[in-house]
Amino acid sequence: MSLQPRPGILDIKPYKPGAADAPGIANPVKLSSNENPLGCSPKAAEAFKSASAKLNLYPDGGATKLREAIAKANDLDASRIVCGTGSDELLQLLGRAYLAPGDKVVQSQYGFLVYRLVAMQSGAEFISAPETDYTANVDAILEAAGDDARIVFLANPNNPTGTYISHDEIRRLREGLHATTMLVVDEAYAEYVDEPDYQTAFDLADEYDNLVVTRTFSKIHGLAAVRLGWAYADAAIIDVLNRVRGPFNVNLPAIEAGIAAINDVGFQQRSADENRQGLAYLRQQLAGMGLEVTPSVGNFVLVHFSQTPGKTAVDADAFLTKRGLIVRPVAAYGLPDALRITIGLEDQNRQIADALREFLAA
Ligand code: PMP
Repeated sequence: MSLQPRPGILDIKPYKPGAADAPGIANPVKLSSNENPLGCSPKAAEAFKSASAKLNLYPDGGATKLREAIAKANDLDASRIVCGTGSDELLQLLGRAYLAPGDKVVQSQYGFLVYRLVAMQSGAEFISAPETDYTANVDAILEAAGDDARIVFLANPNNPTGTYISHDEIRRLREGLHATTMLVVDEAYAEYVDEPDYQTAFDLADEYDNLVVTRTFSKIHGLAAVRLGWAYADAAIIDVLNRVRGPFNVNLPAIEAGIAAINDVGFQQRSADENRQGLAYLRQQLAGMGLEVTPSVGNFVLVHFSQTPGKTAVDADAFLTKRGLIVRPVAAYGLPDALRITIGLEDQNRQIADALREFLAA
């Protein structure tokens, strides 16, 4: 074909979302995409429905009321928030605005796959810094970044490992990076974390003009379908993002559902409580079977399998799928011996534990 995209674009492997179907099973249990098993806030669903009366209207391009609701709930400055079609879009926009061909982008070894896609889209060089115990290693990231990285992406907690680093470590990372390196702290799972040394990096985005925090409505708010996320950063970065985003990048039903969701603190608490119980249960059950489970603070667990034929992660995935339990293979992350399992409802977690027990005994 004579028509070609920019060099490097055809090297990109498109992002493969978690499977949604199990062949031959009418209602499988989908634990492959870290979705909220409780659904979303009933108030958010109601707001989404009411928005159907206004589908002929353009949304407020600045998502002003949504930004104000987010700012109020998190004690932030609304003018330093930008909303996007999922936090994915914000990660893409950062790449579009700040990366040029040949620029260096750094992530932690098992970082979220989208960071690589963002780098490749801009023709940037992509480097992964080795982890220790499936956890980001600040010294390794600093070494990989040197003094010329353009962007360092770090999910805290990270997907698919579920591990986190402390606020002190995030600060140490920011302080060790060069001033011209942007640090993006992706906090998609922040609302689930209970650990006392964990803290959001919002305060560091106040202190430093080169640190961006991203958040999503897809997890604790259960609004993955509407595609809604936001970023908080120095005013100059927000100004840049506002220049490169589409004029109406966030749709009207998403804005209205998002406002209702952020104000429904009860639903967020119920979601966190349900996850806390399910996470403790699954970790304990799986460890009791002799499976290695990476300590997770998110709404999923990374479970490691042996390489013994018949007992591998691929075998376990096939066994679970046959029983209508859909989980996430993570070979694309360089973890061919592991599966990522989203924490579900009590009964779903029990089904996973029972099925894996059967798998190991077979
Ligand atoms: N960051 C991380 C670490 C994620 O796991 C996800 C969702 N899988 C996202 C960002 C993107 O979320 P969304 O685009 O739905 O906001």
